[in-house]
Amino acid sequence: MSDDSQVPGTPSFGLGPDQLELRSWVHDFAADVVRPAAAEWDEREEFPWPVVQEAAKIGLYSLDFFATQSFEETGLGLPITMEELFWGDAGIGLAIVGTALAAAAVSSNGTPEQLGEWVPQMFGTPDDVKIAAFCSSEPDAGSDVGAMRTRARYDEATDEWVIDGTKTWATNGGIADIHVVTAVVDPELRTRGQASFVVPPGTKGLSQGQKFAKHGIRASHTAEVVLDQVRVPGRCLLGGKEKLDARLARAREGAKSGGATNASMATFERTRPAVGAQALGIARAAYEVALDYAKTREQFGRPIIDNQAIAFALADMKTSIDASRLLVWRAAWMARNGQPFEAAEGSMSKLHAGETAVAVTGQAMQILGGNGFTREYPVERMARDARIYTIFEGTSEIQRLVIARAISGRQIR
Ligand SMILES: Cc1cc2nc3c(=O)[nH]c(=O)nc-3n(C[C@H](O)[C@H](O)[C@H](O)COP(=O)(O)OP(=O)(O)OC[C@H]3O[C@@H](n4cnc5c(N)ncnc54)[C@H](O)[C@@H]3O)c2cc1C
Repeated sequence: MSDDSQVPGTPSFGLGPDQLELRSWVHDFAADVVRPAAAEWDEREEFPWPVVQEAAKIGLYSLDFFATQSFEETGLGLPITMEELFWGDAGIGLAIVGTALAAAAVSSNGTPEQLGEWVPQMFGTPDDVKIAAFCSSEPDAGSDVGAMRTRARYDEATDEWVIDGTKTWATNGGIADIHVVTAVVDPELRTRGQASFVVPPGTKGLSQGQKFAKHGIRASHTAEVVLDQVRVPGRCLLGGKEKLDARLARAREGAKSGGATNASMATFERTRPAVGAQALGIARAAYEVALDYAKTREQFGRPIIDNQAIAFALADMKTSIDASRLLVWRAAWMARNGQPFEAAEGSMSKLHAGETAVAVTGQAMQILGGNGFTREYPVERMARDARIYTIFEGTSEIQRLVIARAISGRQIR
């Protein structure tokens, strides 16, 4: 984007030299390293350490890279990265960016000292790669975050927090070096009585529960995390105790700010475009395979693309993909430029891109006919991978709820 994109109301649709260079750099890695490894790690259903190590070697898996892209002036650094990487493969893509989710939790809630202490440890070094997990969901608290049961109690005598509970579906859960865990400190205050903690490497009492066998994104590790009398030093409470005490006191006084909820909703609006961009990458990959196939596959003496039914399907796929990209870029640009998400534009971008990925990958399978149904071609994997994008990081129903509330100003249920 050119400089005038920084002025609200005058965005540019063209990418500048920095974004073009970034796109081609990530694309090359996705094409040369990620794609060739995709089928193998999908079959193995294991965390693809060698590929993540390759990404670390070139600096794509690093704190420096994610920090640079997060603060890149147009806001498009992360969406461009995500689209290209997930174009390569979504399971491996998630293995590479999963740590950034945990790092984002520290960055939005932690003090500068906490950022400096923990985030570098989440990534490690190219010679000694580390990973991190963000653990919020629980068996009875998925969409309903207020139903969280994991408890954190403060032990004044030792200045430690003692955490007990079970987290589930945690990306990198149990194999991570650092876990960021959300827990209830005051059950009466529901979501406003929750806080986030860093659980440092090697902390006693944290263990991996069940590792889930999944429908898609199978190179990404997803597991339960059990916290049994986990003791972490006071400095592991993100934001610090003084801030927490002040926040709890405000909530107890019944301050009508709704501050905690609004603050976390605003954080989601800022992070959802990057998730939408992941879905966009999968959709584009499947569309490209389908377009190529439709031009070369002949039936009834002509390429199948010469049938309107196929050509129109491809036209719709491309239109939805481009619409998703515009929504994703708009929301990412708004986040970077501090624009208010008055119509939940971040949620809109994730909703549209997620549903587009599911629809487009399904259509791609149809265009490939029998081949689309086999593992000889990548679209069936892409269709399995796309499915998670209407489920995690807020289901499609929850995105609609958020958008509906934003546009109506009412507590839609
Ligand atoms: C592969 C994978 C990776 C994940 N990674 C992480 C991670 O790293 N960290 C983490 O904390 N979590 C993670 N999650 C959890 C994920 O965010 C949750 O699965 C998601 O939030 C949905 O919660 P749930 O599965 O409990 O579904 P539920 O909340 O039980 O929802 C079930 C259905 O009911 C619908 N529903 C629920 N409430 C409403 C409502 N009010 N109105 C209308 N419909 C509603 C939902 O949309 C959905 O269709 C991951 C999940 C998966 C599968």
